[in-house]
Amino acid sequence: MLDYDLIIIGGGVGGTAIGAILASKGFKTLLIEKNKFIGGRCSSYEKEGFKIDIGVHTFGRTSRGPHGKILNMIGMEDAIDWVLCRNPGPRWFYQGKFWKFPRELKELIPNSDFSSLMKLFRDSMKMKNLEEFERKSVKDLLSQYTDNNLVHSFVDIISLLYFVVPYYQTSASEFVRCLSSLSADFSMGYPKGGCEAIPLSYAQGIEKFGGNILTGQSVKKIIVENEKVQGIELDNGKFISSKFVISNAGIRETVNIMIDRKFFEGNYLTKVDNLKYSISALTLKVALKKPITDFKLVTSFSLHEPEASFNSLINGKVPEEVSLFIPIPSNYDSNLAPKGKQLLIAGTAVPQENFEKNREKWIKNSLKSLETIFPDLSDNLLWYDVSTPRDLDKLGGKEASVIGISQITKQTGNDRPSPVLPIEGLYLVGGDAGGWGIGTELAAKSAIECSEIILAKYQKRKYS
Ligand SMILES: Cc1cc2nc3c(=O)[nH]c(=O)nc-3n(C[C@H](O)[C@H](O)[C@H](O)COP(=O)(O)OP(=O)(O)OC[C@H]3O[C@@H](n4cnc5c(N)ncnc54)[C@H](O)[C@@H]3O)c2cc1C
Repeated sequence: MLDYDLIIIGGGVGGTAIGAILASKGFKTLLIEKNKFIGGRCSSYEKEGFKIDIGVHTFGRTSRGPHGKILNMIGMEDAIDWVLCRNPGPRWFYQGKFWKFPRELKELIPNSDFSSLMKLFRDSMKMKNLEEFERKSVKDLLSQYTDNNLVHSFVDIISLLYFVVPYYQTSASEFVRCLSSLSADFSMGYPKGGCEAIPLSYAQGIEKFGGNILTGQSVKKIIVENEKVQGIELDNGKFISSKFVISNAGIRETVNIMIDRKFFEGNYLTKVDNLKYSISALTLKVALKKPITDFKLVTSFSLHEPEASFNSLINGKVPEEVSLFIPIPSNYDSNLAPKGKQLLIAGTAVPQENFEKNREKWIKNSLKSLETIFPDLSDNLLWYDVSTPRDLDKLGGKEASVIGISQITKQTGNDRPSPVLPIEGLYLVGGDAGGWGIGTELAAKSAIECSEIILAKYQKRKYS
C-alpha cells in the first residue's frame, strides 16, 4: 500500500493551495517544505514586535481572485481577513508630488493621449480573443493607442510591478487579463497577519482535511520507474511512496535535479532550458519610531526610456533615482508593528547577476529615494532590514526570481509550461507552470488549474 496518494514538494502559495484543494477532495496528502516555515516567497518573519514580509506584497484581487476562490473551494471563506487599499487608495509619487493615477495623469499629458490611455483601459475590459495578443508585447499594444513618453513610462512601471519584466517584453494578453480583472474586481488589498496569512490558511486547510505537513525536510529525488512516479526520497535517504508527486520547487529544479534529464525527450528539455525567469528584487524593511504616512501603498516612478533603463539595470548600472513599490503593512493591520510604530516596506526590481557587486550602492540609492518620498523617514528610523536576490535564492531557488517563469511573450497562455509533466503522476504547480495573474495570484491560479486536471483524470470520493 502506498504511503500517500499525493506528495507535494514545497510549501509556497502554489504547493499549499493545491494541497488544500486536493486534501479537501479526499486525497491522502503530504506536503514537504525544506525551510522550517511555510510560504516560500510569500512568508514573513518577526523582529522586535514587527511582523515583516520577506518580499514586498500587495494583493491585486484579494477575496475576488484565485485566493478567494480557493478558500471557497475548501469551505474556509473567512480564513483570511482582507483589508482593502482604500481611504486612502494607492498613490503614485512623481516629480515630488503624490498623484492618483491614472486619473490625474490628465494634468500632465495632452488630452488626446489621456483619452487614448483610457480607451486602452476600456478596450482591455472587452477584449475577448486574447490569443492574438499572446505573442505581442504590451509596448506593441500601447503604441496602437499613444506614443506619449510619460504614458509609456507609466505603463512600463505597471508592467514591472505586475510581472517584474519591462513592458516591451511582457505579453500583451497577460497584461490585459491582469489589468481588466483588477479593474473589474476593484479589491486590491492585504491580509491581516501579513502576507504569510495566505499560505498559512492553505496549510491549515491541508491539515483540516487530514493531510500532513513536514517542514525542515528537503526532497532530494523524485523516484520514477517504468515511466511512472513512485514517490520521493528525502535528503536523509528516506523513501516515501505516493501515486502523484506535485512539485512547487520550480521547473528546472524538478526536471534537472530531482528527476534526471534522461527521463525527458530532447524537445521538452530544450524548452525547459530556454525558459526565462522574471528578474529579482531588493527590499528594504523599514521600522519607524512613529507613523510618517497614512498611505497604504505608494509607487514612485520617473519619466524614463524603458528599453535603455532596463538594459542599463541589467548591465549593472544603479539608477540615482530608484523606482520603488512601497506598501505600508501596518496601515492595513496595526498589529504588524508595535503600538505607535510603523512598518514600511520598499522594493525594487534588480538583476540577480551583478547585484552583489553593486549591493551598497543599490541600498544607498534606494534609501535616498525613499527619503525623498518621505522626508520624515530618517528622523524616525529605528532600523531597517534588507533582502537581496541572494536571500531569495536561498529561500526558494528559481534563480532568485520574484515571480517564477516570466510572463513575457511566448511564455504565457498556451505557451506557458504545462502543469502536466511528461511522466505519469508528475505535476508542477506555482509560478513556473500554468495559470495567469500577478505573483501569488498566478501561483494560486496554477494550483486551481492543476487540481482540475488531476481531478478530471482521477475522480476521488468527496471528503465528508
Ligand atoms: C520581493 C517580492 C515582491 C513580491 N510582490 C508581490 C506582490 O506584490 N503581489 C503578489 O501577489 N506577489 C508578489 N510576489 C510574488 C509572490 O510572492 C510569488 O509569485 C509566489 O509567492 C510564488 O509562489 P510559488 O507557489 O511559485 O512558490 P515559491 O514561493 O517559489 O515556493 C516554493 C517552495 O518550495 C520549497 N522547495 C524548493 N525545493 C524544495 C525541496 N527540494 N524540498 C522541499 N521544498 C522545496 C521552497 O523552500 C519554497 O518554500 C513578490 C515576491 C517577491 C520576492
